Amino acid sequence: MIERTLYSSDHDLFRASFRRFLDEEVRPYYDAWEDQGYVDREVWRKAGALGFLCPTMPEQYGGAGVDRLYSAIIFEEIGRSGATGLGFGLHSDIVAPYLLAYGSDDLKERYLPAMARGELIGAIAMSEPSAGSDLQGIRASAVRDGDTWVLNGSKTFITNGWHCDLVIVVAKTDPALGAKGISLLVVDTGMPGFSKGKRLKKAGLKAQDTAELFFDSVRVPDGNLLGRAGEGFIYLMQELAWERMQIAILAVSACEAALHWTIEYTRSRKAFGSEIIGFQNTRFTLAALKTEVQVARVFVDRCMELLLAGKLDAPTAAMAKYWTTELQGKVTDDCLQLHGGYGYMWEYPIARAWADARVQRIYGGTNEIMKEIIARTL
Ligand SMILES: Cc1cc2nc3c(=O)[nH]c(=O)nc-3n(C[C@H](O)[C@H](O)[C@H](O)COP(=O)(O)OP(=O)(O)OC[C@H]3O[C@@H](n4cnc5c(N)ncnc54)[C@H](O)[C@@H]3O)c2cc1C
Repeated sequence: MIERTLYSSDHDLFRASFRRFLDEEVRPYYDAWEDQGYVDREVWRKAGALGFLCPTMPEQYGGAGVDRLYSAIIFEEIGRSGATGLGFGLHSDIVAPYLLAYGSDDLKERYLPAMARGELIGAIAMSEPSAGSDLQGIRASAVRDGDTWVLNGSKTFITNGWHCDLVIVVAKTDPALGAKGISLLVVDTGMPGFSKGKRLKKAGLKAQDTAELFFDSVRVPDGNLLGRAGEGFIYLMQELAWERMQIAILAVSACEAALHWTIEYTRSRKAFGSEIIGFQNTRFTLAALKTEVQVARVFVDRCMELLLAGKLDAPTAAMAKYWTTELQGKVTDDCLQLHGGYGYMWEYPIARAWADARVQRIYGGTNEIMKEIIARTL
């Protein structure tokens, strides 16, 4: 196979220790977490103590100040292990970077070190019951009153929403201005008027707590505004390439894992007197998938190189998100088929991988929106 050149020996050591963490602190508990619908909070603290949360944040704020390849390793290993219920990525690589880039010193000191320790869990709330893809259609509003913003509205489908201690809320501070009237406010669960709805029952990602959030005249101090009022939409656009790469990275490693499990399974299962892998249909299916996964791997690694060099543009990142997640759907579906009835049983990792894969085409900007972004470059 084509050798990967992205990682150094330091990265490899980090990967080995995160893999061990998943084997020892996650896998043994994962079935129970899926049944209860959320991971135990304790795993966040353990991950924080070992440096697996917010690794790219500066040391001053509790991180290790390392490059984004360390985050990429976390996404890859989560994809490989199938422990997709861990909401570490969103916390470390979406919420924390907004705080770092646009938060005041006070906000950074208050939240980032505790997030890196796993004592506080972060979420970001953009989507609403009536607006997802069309972010400008959100209704949550924050009206200035003295030195606070009075926030009203509701959000849905929020990852880490049930566990979260702080949430970055996207709200309109000047509805008349459309995208130019959108701001980002950091809301603490302790603020009166903030409540969490029920955990949502999902078709996959069953250990991931996804919830509705409600804001009823929550008084958010002006100091909790990220950056400047009205610039929220611009801030949300800044890191889209990285946010989409996170999904693509996980997609490719999930494909690799699905292939691995299926090759093992079809080697051990027999029908009509021979191993399933001996049938030409099995071999050709796996050969085709392996080829496509290799193509995806090389493309995503190259995109990561560009990202690290500050050269990955939004349309290329959209291609990566769109194409790898479509591939993930195809690979997990074909691999499930090769498992026969066992593939449909939850105790088999391929069944979970298949169910978990579906949402990858929906969140982080749907794949239709990705095609819109790509189409604008035609
Ligand atoms: C498990 C899960 C976790 C999530 N986590 C979060 C989170 O942490 N924070 C958060 O804010 N949101 C989160 N989301 C929400 C997610 O980002 C939205 O579901 C997604 O953006 C799509 O929005 P929607 O569901 O409103 O669908 P809609 O926007 O209503 O889209 C419905 C369909 O119409 C299509 N469509 C819409 N506009 C166009 C267009 N212009 N051209 C062509 N087709 C179009 C879509 O592609 C889709 O197929 C999560 C969702 C899920 C399922």
